[in-house]
Amino acid sequence: MEKSHLIKPLLDKDYPVISYGDGIYLYDTSGKKYIDGSSGAITANLGHGVQEIIDSITNQAHKVSFVYRSQFTNEPAEQLAQKICELYGDGYWSFFVNSGSEATETAMKIAIQYWQERGLRGKNKILSRWMSYHGITIGALSMSGHPERRSRFVSILEDYPTISPPYCYRCPYGATYPGCNYLCANELEQAINRIGSSNIAAFIAEPIIGAAGGAIVPPDGYYQVIKEICVKYNILFIADEVMTGFGRTGKMFALEHWGTTADLVAIGKGMSAGYTPIAATLVSEKIIETIKNGSKSIMSGHTFSANPQSAAVALSVIHYLEKNNLVDTALVKGTYLKEKLIDLQLCYPIIGDIRGKGLMIGVEFVSDMITKFPFSKEINLTSLIISKAQQNGLLIYPASAGIEGIGGDAVLIAPPLTITNKQIDDLIQLFEQTLVDIGKDLQSDGII
Ligand code: PMP
Repeated sequence: MEKSHLIKPLLDKDYPVISYGDGIYLYDTSGKKYIDGSSGAITANLGHGVQEIIDSITNQAHKVSFVYRSQFTNEPAEQLAQKICELYGDGYWSFFVNSGSEATETAMKIAIQYWQERGLRGKNKILSRWMSYHGITIGALSMSGHPERRSRFVSILEDYPTISPPYCYRCPYGATYPGCNYLCANELEQAINRIGSSNIAAFIAEPIIGAAGGAIVPPDGYYQVIKEICVKYNILFIADEVMTGFGRTGKMFALEHWGTTADLVAIGKGMSAGYTPIAATLVSEKIIETIKNGSKSIMSGHTFSANPQSAAVALSVIHYLEKNNLVDTALVKGTYLKEKLIDLQLCYPIIGDIRGKGLMIGVEFVSDMITKFPFSKEINLTSLIISKAQQNGLLIYPASAGIEGIGGDAVLIAPPLTITNKQIDDLIQLFEQTLVDIGKDLQSDGII
């Protein structure tokens, strides 16, 4: 290829050029085949080249691709909002945006506006957890407890992340569940008391921590404690389901695992399964009613919000998920994938922990299985594993985990929900080959 002017994550790296995708496979222009073991960025939940979704794009394009939200509403966006309301629970409204970052940032703004409408203008801080990722724009990054992504911009960020994550593998208190009595969740109450509930609009959390933790699942009961604290202190609860939504974890939305909902919900990624950009903030009826009876308008919005083309895609993605029962089967397939990984763990002691729900599985690596001590930061094991896997024809996703200030390594394995058990076997085989290759490299470098 001629000199590139496309800005990619690393400016000095040559990336393979993708040619086409088919099901769980991607093919680059050299003819190399990859198993998409991470659905890209946990996004291509239906796999690639699904005819039904392609048809929805062309059908809608023949009708109309764009109308502006302050001039028209449109049928696909209305139907999508209706469908999401049915799926999430009665009364929820959808504010469509284009990325997960916009969805969380819109949730943040709506939370602040809600309290303003109620005359509580001081309630404008958003509390969050360390080991979280809610997006890359300044508001979303302010809510993200991701030191590496924050570091360059700390001086212009709000200082939001406050409480410890529910990271049971490395409990911040050295406690174990259930004896811990939810110390990490109760930190929220301490933070509220310190900051003052009259200054706090909301608390935001990913139901299962994705890129910032490697599929960290809180213990049962955790969200009940969080929600009780939010209600007690008049603080809204924002669930960031951008990665976990639309069946990824074996439920349509991950909070269903704990029988609960949130006041505001950010969704994205799997919503269109990557066929077109679309995301949304779901807003509960109580918030909508307050704003309707107040200033009547949510002060946010984007040119492409409620775009009919993207809405038509999201509708057909939901239809495809339901028709093929992909949400329930994700739970079964995820159990199969986890069992296969546990088999590998017996042979490869660098696998410290395997966690997650449905087809959102995290694998954390350690230099010592007993002490759980991570590999040194300088080794950059996560990057080595990701690139070795890619060389071997397997795409997996980097996640950060480990000991704060010391480091750690984790990856997410999250293939399309359409994967078969036979294809999971093939994925595992490539993952094992990657561990063998990495083991040899670490040995020859005298690291293990
Ligand atoms: N929230 C979560 C939980 C995410 O995983 C991500 C993306 N990794 C975002 C928000 C931001 O989404 P986007 O990249 O679409 O802006």
